[in-house]
Amino acid sequence: MYDLIIRNGNVVLPQGVSRVEIGIRDGKIACIANRISEDANDVVDASNQYVIPGMIDTHVHISEPGRTGWEGFATGSQALAAGGVTSYIEMPLNALPATTNKAALNLKIEAAKNQNYVDYGFYGGLVPGNLDDLEELAQAGVFAYKAFMSNCGSDIPGDFKNVDDYALYKGMKKLAELGKLLCLHAENLSITEGLAQDMVRLGRTTAMDYVDSRPVFTEVEAVQRAILFAKETGCKIHFVHISTAEAVQAVQRARRDGVDVSVESCPHYLAITAEEVERIGNYARCQPPIRKAKDQERLWQELLNGNIDWIASDHSPCTEDLKDGGIFEAWGGISGAQNSVDVMFDVAVKQRGLPLVQFVDLIATHPSARFGLPDKGQIAVSKDADIVLIDPNQSYVLRREDLYYKNKHSAYVGRKIDCRITTTIVRGNIVFDVRKGIVGNPVGRLMTSRTTSPKVVSAH
Ligand SMILES: [Zn+2]
Repeated sequence: MYDLIIRNGNVVLPQGVSRVEIGIRDGKIACIANRISEDANDVVDASNQYVIPGMIDTHVHISEPGRTGWEGFATGSQALAAGGVTSYIEMPLNALPATTNKAALNLKIEAAKNQNYVDYGFYGGLVPGNLDDLEELAQAGVFAYKAFMSNCGSDIPGDFKNVDDYALYKGMKKLAELGKLLCLHAENLSITEGLAQDMVRLGRTTAMDYVDSRPVFTEVEAVQRAILFAKETGCKIHFVHISTAEAVQAVQRARRDGVDVSVESCPHYLAITAEEVERIGNYARCQPPIRKAKDQERLWQELLNGNIDWIASDHSPCTEDLKDGGIFEAWGGISGAQNSVDVMFDVAVKQRGLPLVQFVDLIATHPSARFGLPDKGQIAVSKDADIVLIDPNQSYVLRREDLYYKNKHSAYVGRKIDCRITTTIVRGNIVFDVRKGIVGNPVGRLMTSRTTSPKVVSAH
């Protein structure tokens, strides 16, 4: 007897796509077989659909507590569920206080309780002055740390702050001792700030001027500097939301040199061009900026060649008013968590022929391996039954009213998407059904990192 059986679907297994049935019991994948004859309490018919592991979104900002008006755990996790995400790791900034010590992490954990429709875990922040908090955060189960090399934060007490080179170097030394991963926003701070001021002074404030204020080399420079620090300290690093082929190539060279480094990009860098941002406006403002079509094409080659480890949304929501004004003043973040899987399936699998196994690697298998989530990331017996059904033959135009975010704006509103997520299952619980919307209870569980054991540091 199973709790749930998924029949008739084209299931994306690690070894390829196969017409098999999946039997789920106690939240786990209990059986994968050509035909399951036992009974089940519930059956999902996946005819003409792909059955894939749920996305593990390693880059989500929920601004609760403190800025709950921007996004909350309930609304944010509903959007993730509707978007085919079954677990996420929450960034340590935008909420107040920022997650830079154990007390702040406890506030997050408390605020998140009984609100999440999908599983969730947390980052800790690396900021100037919190070196002594990093170990406690590790013991409390954060999966990784995040630091900003470009300008970040505000004067509000408890808000996040970017690191300078000294704080970055010292933080990396400490995280190397702890054996923990550091995730980096890599852009050169002083050049991007200076160029932005130049642009505004000259009255150059179009979407293209914004792109030109953060040129490709300012991302590459920061990536190369962080790689050098990683070589020196032995810290494991990961680059978030990389927007350029040149930065991806720098990561690949470092990896060949033996640096423990990985790289993510985001759907908006692959599905939207700077030329289109002129039309979409501030809803598509983010940093690093969405690049011009010719640069994007080269990023695509890196993705198709397997040089980008995974895709994350960088869902960075805000209230509507913060998207008003000129592009240099507007909030730099895109609400996108609800459309990572369908947009990427459309542009990568359907439009560019990315094999489905590679697609699943990008959204689930690779992030689960890097973040130490052995129960997730694949459709295989004994894994968590985190499963998504996607219909490649449906298409729809995204409307504001489709969005579950607290603030119903997105860079993808008005976009035609040539596939549709029809069902999302979290540990055997159906949490989203395209005909009914969000269903059931907030079943999401807190995940904590089990890989806290310090790495042995060589004495030199
Ligand atoms: Zn972010």
